Amino acid sequence: MENKKFQGIIPPEKWIKDCSTPLIIAGPCSAETEEQVMQTAHQLKNTGVVQIFRAGIWKPRTQPNTFEGVGSVGLEWLQRVKRETGMSVATEVGSAKHVFEAIKYGVDLLWIGARTTSNPFAIQEIADALQGADIPVLVKNPLSPDLDLWIGAIERLHAVGLRKLGAIHRGFFSWEKTDLRNQPCWHIPLSMMRQFPDLPIICDPSHIAGKRELVPEIAQRAYDLRMHGLMVETHINPDNAWSDARQQLTPANFSEMIQSLVGTDSDE
Ligand code: PEP
Ligand code: MN
Repeated sequence: MENKKFQGIIPPEKWIKDCSTPLIIAGPCSAETEEQVMQTAHQLKNTGVVQIFRAGIWKPRTQPNTFEGVGSVGLEWLQRVKRETGMSVATEVGSAKHVFEAIKYGVDLLWIGARTTSNPFAIQEIADALQGADIPVLVKNPLSPDLDLWIGAIERLHAVGLRKLGAIHRGFFSWEKTDLRNQPCWHIPLSMMRQFPDLPIICDPSHIAGKRELVPEIAQRAYDLRMHGLMVETHINPDNAWSDARQQLTPANFSEMIQSLVGTDSDE
């Protein structure tokens, strides 16, 4: 049943200049070096299908003593991506400080990671920092299959006046082990879509699949369910990536995957 919670949501086509749906966001899990970021960005630009380049610079890792991101220096690399390729750029924020810095450096879209969505204090802090901002924000589902926690995070952002809002389905942690890294529990994003038909929802097949060979079938499923786009991790040298090495695609494999998906407006 339709729920009136998210009034006035602005559709993705109006978020950023030249945006269209399906919204295709691609880029490395993490920004590692300026060279890796620039090479990935140029190769993705050449695919002709990417609207927004993603790279994590502040990485909330499950384990300590792993790579936790290059930090603020990565914002300069993202600026260079914008300047040289014309693509819009996106990064993950987990605190008010991240929000202020990303906005200062002209990041075009922010996303909130699964670990952060699970924490209402962190979400409220981010929401307060975003008051009065006009930037699109995508909220990943929390790690646990808790639809209300996901909706609650988006509500906090809506309450401070943000209207360029969307959700990212990245699957849910489970003890039950399958071939996939995270369980898609498709009924959860479907329930979100049914309740909030105006709220865009895009799929992150990379974190659901966990292995690059399984990414395309998840992406196809998202298209079949009429989700509004994809966020796909891509890296020039996936096997040597500093985070999420198993699930990243090369820009060439990414491009092949996008071309092979059926169900986009262009082939209907
Ligand atoms: C990411 O997008 O690289 C990431 C950290 O994802 P998630 O928050 O979904 O685990
Ligand atoms: Mn990742």
